[in-house]
Amino acid sequence: MSKQYDYVIIGAGFAGMCMAIKLKQAGFHNFVILERNKQLGGTWYDNHYPGAACDVQSHLYSFSFEPNANWSRMFGPQQEILQYMEHCATKYELRQHFQFNTTVTSATFNDTTNTWTVTDAQGNNYTAKAVIGCSGGLSQPAMPDIKGMDTFEGKTFHSAQWDNSYDLKGKRIAIIGTGASAIQIVPAIAEEVKDLLLFQRTPPWIMPKPDRKMRSWEMKLFKALPFTQSLFRGYLYWVHEAMAAGFVTNPAILRLAQGISKRHLKKAVKDEALRAKLTPTYTMGCKRILLSNNYYPALTRSNVQVLNNGIAEINTIGVKTIDGTQHDVDAIIYATGFHAADGVMAFDIKGKNGLDIHQAWQQGAEAYLGTTVAGFPNLFLIVGPNTGLGHSSMILMIEAQVQYIMEGIKAMRTNKWKTVEVKPEVQQQYNETIHRELAKTVWQSGGCVSWYQNKNGKNVTLYPGYTFTFMRRTKRFEADKYHTVA
Ligand code: NAP
Repeated sequence: MSKQYDYVIIGAGFAGMCMAIKLKQAGFHNFVILERNKQLGGTWYDNHYPGAACDVQSHLYSFSFEPNANWSRMFGPQQEILQYMEHCATKYELRQHFQFNTTVTSATFNDTTNTWTVTDAQGNNYTAKAVIGCSGGLSQPAMPDIKGMDTFEGKTFHSAQWDNSYDLKGKRIAIIGTGASAIQIVPAIAEEVKDLLLFQRTPPWIMPKPDRKMRSWEMKLFKALPFTQSLFRGYLYWVHEAMAAGFVTNPAILRLAQGISKRHLKKAVKDEALRAKLTPTYTMGCKRILLSNNYYPALTRSNVQVLNNGIAEINTIGVKTIDGTQHDVDAIIYATGFHAADGVMAFDIKGKNGLDIHQAWQQGAEAYLGTTVAGFPNLFLIVGPNTGLGHSSMILMIEAQVQYIMEGIKAMRTNKWKTVEVKPEVQQQYNETIHRELAKTVWQSGGCVSWYQNKNGKNVTLYPGYTFTFMRRTKRFEADKYHTVA
């Protein structure tokens, strides 16, 4: 089967939906959104593990143009975020554009026709003037490489592929990993399971989570006087931006926050030996700062053990640690994160003259404004290289990128350009600038290994600055930075 569109959007998460909404609002209706899952949501569909919730306040982690006065909590749970996304899909009439159960395997640029052909796993083709990649920075689960992993005879799954049909009740469960996913899962299942064995390699920094139920008068106020919700969003925005200073310009600020985190730990964990195990050794911020009020208390339960001796192997019946102790378990849950820096694209992309994106990105992924890539005309990426944040809502970055792409698409329509392709020297200069800025950040100097960096230690995931500087950079599509073909 072969179908023709003006635009193909790959991914039906926040990025793909935002792109679709803005295309429609500008009068572009001939597009399709290809999505591998059976419904919309992206990461918020995939990550349905117990306890899944946002770690940025929902009034900020939502579209600026679609405020929701009904968030039940400060930090909305996963189901509520999905409901919000469903609401947006209906309100902005996106339903007819989704094509679910469609896993994209490749996107190839045709130099003769100046069009892209996107191919799915069934071999269907979709041709388009432009492709907008919205497949997410954290969409490919990463499994560790542990000796004997495949021999385990019990149940296993990754946190992002949670098996709801598996009953945890009365079971002895191993969780590997102590990142953002694990710290939400542990308190959510600790009570239900017989035993929980948490295999920790690096203890994370954890801050109190300023979460609470929204009060009914607050919801009523936001509904009756929408500007009050805008004010609240503005307040949250600036509180988060203030944190960026710690990451980017002055890690000393973060060292101050370490005191708060240590007090948080001390208050919850009275046992000194356990507290020592849970105390981080790198500078806060080097890895993502985690927020939780119930993780540390869960670790003090009598049926929970924190094991930090290192895993020697996994065998048919459980996990053996380096000290030689065998830990028999019924199931192993891998909360081991995602391929972010080293496996940036989930599908093959071939640009001009057959240029392979993996080839172009041999030294590490790079793009101009995380959005356009030299050698790949009419390809736009959302949440592309160096657009991630350590301090605020990714939806701010998504909206900024969509604004930029829309300016580009409108310029193409006005000027009747067939293609736009960022000049290599523009991309290079931009990347030199941001990598100079990145060198000063805590992500480079904080003494940790994180998913922010690729195997060469290059940070290809995070944006080194305030979101308002990125918004300023993406406000206009500057044609002089592009080769255009009319
Ligand atoms: P992660 O932060 O990358 O954590 C993975 C964990 O697995 C780390 O503790 C890591 O240890 C451990 N690990 C990996 N390989 C291992 C191995 N071979 N042996 C032992 N331990 C191993 O992954 P994540 O928790 O899924 O979170 C990823 C990102 O997703 C977050 O940073 C965040 O951006 C996003 N997220 C957001 C939310 C939210 O609330 N909005 C929730 C979940 C995730 P090391 O630290 O030693 O490498």
